[in-house]
Amino acid sequence: MTADFILALDFGGTKHAAALLRHGDQSWCDVRRRLSPATPDATYDIETMLALARALVKGRRVAAVGVSFGGPVDFERGVVRLSHHVPGWEQFPLAARLTQALGAPVVVDNDANVAALGEHVYGAGQGARHLLFITVSTGVGGGWILNGEPWRGAEGMAGEIGHTVVVPEGPLCLCGKRGCVERLASGPYMARDARDILERDPARGGILRALVAGDLTRIDGSVLSQAAARGDPVASGMLRRGAQALGTGIGNAANLVNPERVILGGGVTHAGVRWWEDVRAATVATLLPEVHVELLPAALGDEAPLWGAIALAQHHLDGAL
Ligand SMILES: [Zn+2]
Repeated sequence: MTADFILALDFGGTKHAAALLRHGDQSWCDVRRRLSPATPDATYDIETMLALARALVKGRRVAAVGVSFGGPVDFERGVVRLSHHVPGWEQFPLAARLTQALGAPVVVDNDANVAALGEHVYGAGQGARHLLFITVSTGVGGGWILNGEPWRGAEGMAGEIGHTVVVPEGPLCLCGKRGCVERLASGPYMARDARDILERDPARGGILRALVAGDLTRIDGSVLSQAAARGDPVASGMLRRGAQALGTGIGNAANLVNPERVILGGGVTHAGVRWWEDVRAATVATLLPEVHVELLPAALGDEAPLWGAIALAQHHLDGAL
């Protein structure tokens, strides 16, 4: 008898990934990834993903498909609301389209919720009943696990800690508000603000300038971390401001919901020990004395959405969703 397989699909902003797991196994049968071209659209994304999936499945029986999508999703209907990066996804019925193409039940959720579930079942969230997962990368997103289950809220929008306001008089965010966590703590925004300082004041940021050989457009979150590690005050200041904003947001969220654990993933979390100390200090400064929360780095890295997609499909098969 043919064993059943679970298929995990990750529609990311810049890359797609698909992985196949034999039911009950702890490691992939096979995993494939493809970088997106400079100007993808929804049709390209779906065709690419289906090609990856078909190459993996090769006629084997798939019991269920879990999907992580990098943008807001109407979970109940399996419909993508939109992508902030790729055109053509507006109100797209992704679950129905994939069910038709792959011949198996499909469950779709946004990447932060899916990664939260992945960390909860397979990563740094194991054993925690209530947790908040936050990714700090090109954006800042979050997902809740409450009572051991994903908590999506009334419209599937729970966990948007990136657009909670921590500095009301702060700089303008893409969402239209000022001083959001994402506006202060995400890699591209920190890089942009550092670049602005260097453009205004040629005497500042010598280490940063040297790292990009004077080409300020090359400054990104990773360059900021390197410059801070070498003692650049502009880079250190920017990372500290971001860490304080994030920690304030975490403290507010923890006061409100009282999770036992907060798990942080994404590129910016590799900024170094100092960044983590600053996030912890701002969190503690915001917490009520009676509220305690453990801050931990994510364990699954780039694969959190894939493992979460497996858990999502598994939940579906178990009838838990
Ligand atoms: Zn915002």
